[in-house]
This record gives sequence, C-alpha cells and structure tokens, in this order.
Amino acid sequence: MARDEFYKNKNAYEVMTDVEKKECDQFSKDYMAFLDASKTEREAVETSIQIAKFAGFSEYRFGDKLEKGGKYYLNNRGRSAIFFVIGTEPLENGVRIAASHIDSPRIDLKQHPLYEQDELAYLKTHYYGGIRKYQWTAMPLAMHGVVVKADGTSVNITVGENDNDPVFYIDDLLPHLAKEQSSRSLAEGITGEQLNILVGSIPVDKEGSAVKAGVLKILNEKYGITDEDFISAEISLVPAFKSRYIGFDKSLIGGYGHDDRCCAYPSLRAIVEANKPVHTLFTVLADKEEVGSMGNTGMQCEIFVDLLATVCQQFGANFFACKNNSKCLSADVNAAYDPNFSGVFEKNNSSLVNHGVVLTKYTGSRGKSGTSDASAEYVGFVRRIFDNAGIVWQTGELGKVDQGGGGTVAQYIANKNIEVVDLGVAVISMHAPYEVISKADLYMAYRAFKAFNADNA
Ligand code: MN
Ligand code: MN
Repeated sequence: MARDEFYKNKNAYEVMTDVEKKECDQFSKDYMAFLDASKTEREAVETSIQIAKFAGFSEYRFGDKLEKGGKYYLNNRGRSAIFFVIGTEPLENGVRIAASHIDSPRIDLKQHPLYEQDELAYLKTHYYGGIRKYQWTAMPLAMHGVVVKADGTSVNITVGENDNDPVFYIDDLLPHLAKEQSSRSLAEGITGEQLNILVGSIPVDKEGSAVKAGVLKILNEKYGITDEDFISAEISLVPAFKSRYIGFDKSLIGGYGHDDRCCAYPSLRAIVEANKPVHTLFTVLADKEEVGSMGNTGMQCEIFVDLLATVCQQFGANFFACKNNSKCLSADVNAAYDPNFSGVFEKNNSSLVNHGVVLTKYTGSRGKSGTSDASAEYVGFVRRIFDNAGIVWQTGELGKVDQGGGGTVAQYIANKNIEVVDLGVAVISMHAPYEVISKADLYMAYRAFKAFNADNA
C-alpha cells in the first residue's frame, strides 16, 4: 500500500514544533511519575487529589456550598473521584466532561487466599478484568492493597515497589516438561485457578502447615493482621516494574496500566490547569470499567448525575437542560495498529502510533453491539475544536469487523442524555502487564482535553 493511502494524517513528529517536542518530553516525565505512583484505583485517586489540591482544589461533600469559579473534588469512597470547576456561563448551556477510568487489569486475592501445599505457601487469586493469563506468570509482582481488621482499623500494604522489597511470583512450567501444556491453546495454557502467588517457603513449626504459619507470623508482626482479616481486604497483585522509555529514540513509554491512566492523567492535568473557564468543567476518574462499570464507584453509578444535579440546584439552573446541552469526551484507549499482528486490523480505520490522539466514533462488537455510536453532528463539533487548536488527531476502530471488540464508559454517559464520543491514546499490547504508548500521542491527548475545555462554542 502506498504511504499516502496508509498514513492518512501526519506523524506527530513531522508536525510538532521544537517547543511542542520539549513540552511533550516534560509531560511524559510527569505522566510516568503519576503512573508509578498509581498502580491501583485507590492510589490513582490519592495521587490525583494531591495534584488537584496543589492546584487549589478543595474537597466537596454533598450538601456543601459552591462558589462561582470554585475548584472542587469529590472523593467517591477512595476508589473514584470527580474534579470540577464552576465556569462563568449559565449551567443550562451545558458542561464539559472528560470521563476516564483508573482501574486496570490485575490479579486480586480471594477472601481465603493463604494455603500451603508441599511445603510452599501460596495465595489463591481471582483475576480482575480481561487478562491473557499466560502473560502474568514467571515475572515479579508487587502487592498493593488495604486490609480492614476485625476492630475496624485498616492497614495499607505495599510490597515489591522498593528495590530492597521482596516481590511475588506465579509459577510456570519449564519447557522440558511442557509437552502437554504447549499442545493446549494460549487461552488454556494457564488456567484461572493456576494463578497462585508464591509467598514463602520457610517452616516455623514441626507440625501442620508450618510454612503457612511462617507467612502468617510475618504478616502479623508487620501489619497486625490475621488469616481472617483477608475476608475484609482488597489486595491486588500488579507488575513490579516501573515505567520506562522504550526504543533507542525514547519515543515510546512502557508501563503497567496505561489503560486507562494515559487518558486519566492528561484529562486531570487539563482541568487543574483550566484558568477561569467559561464552561463548568468536570473530570471523572471512574473505577470498575474493566469489569463492566458496575458498583458504586463505576460509571454506571448515579453519583456523577447526582453531583451535576446538586451543582445545578445551587446555581438555580435547570438540571435537565444542563444535561441535554452537556458534552463529554469518554477518555479511553484504543488498539494501536501493530505490524506484527497486522491481520487483525483494517488499516484504513486503525489508529497508528505517533499519529496523535484517537477519536473513536463507535466501539462494540458483532455489528456495533453495545456501543453508543456518537452522532455525525457531535463528531463534527469535536473535529472542528481539534483542527482549530492544531491538535494531531486521527480516527480509530478497534480491529477488523467481527475480529473481537470492546466497550468503554461512553454508553453509560450517553444514557444520561449527554453528548459523548470516545477519545484516547492508541496502545500496543493493551491489557498486558507491560503496555506501550507513544509520548507524542499522550501529549496530544493532553492538548485535546485542554482545547475541549477551553472551546467557547
Ligand atoms: Mn480502558
Ligand atoms: Mn481496558
């Protein structure tokens, strides 16, 4: 295929000025620090609130009074958060929303996790989100989470992030003995119940589960927890790696949880940097997208519209008119065209690495099933904003028709009678323990959210 046909828009590196390239490098560094400090949704909420507080945001609780020009955040149970800035124009004209998610695929502990088998101690797990199980074996894993003890106090656990911490591990078979396993399909090579976490090997007693007892002794001494406390805990295993540049030219970023923190962080930066906006702005960092956006911290929860209703009420605006005129970017990643797996992509409609932020009109699978499919009018509206602001952007569709598919939070926002379209960064190896994005695409996402917020139409 000729270059012109394939490369529909320009590579960002052919368009960016030297000043933009510098800004892009700095933004990427800031993002990598955010990513490394935010490996779970709880940590992402904490880090984001710190950033917002530094920019003058203050905590809002339902029932508090709001002021014009005020900058606020609502902390939803420590697992999701909404940041908002009250603009100058009437709320009936609608608000501008960016909604991303801060949960990522990972391995969660079960409620009775700890056991000993043949003198090795393990933790039983139930994976979270769409993982390819074989990718999570034979590599260092870090443990992040919170345990609520019998007396109601809670303790945070983070092990495996410091160089002198131990890490954890899921066993795989040596090739010498993998004849039977290797003949199975990739999906069946490692099963869900084989995702057991290796956590110890020294026996402390002569009898019984002596290795398990040794692990419990350490947990008790270090965190004051017992075997039963795992019942009221949220503990996750995530890759113990830090984000790193990839490639001789350092143009790409490898990291855990780009989906969807590479959209969350740019949208957060865009709102904290908003200066006396005309529109009232919202940035939603949602939880549970990877498992269907359910629950009271997922995007299907009413909390966002409750907040919007409360804001309208305080300023005497009609809530229904406000929703009807509001505009949202559902901020989520798309699959980057990958030359190593070109067969699953339709080139003319795939998003390319370094070709800018990706506008995805519809998602879904098997005949667009489960998509909100943005209107031509709304796509046209967003397109004009990006073109006027000099954003490098492209369109994207998640692979060939009937190859698979996926969804985002867009449909839940659309169901509330709000205009919405998906916008985000193209990812290589999405949902793998170590995903890859382009620095330039990340930077263009940030610029796109800023332009969307600042647009006065
Ligand atoms: Mn996502
Ligand atoms: Mn995902």
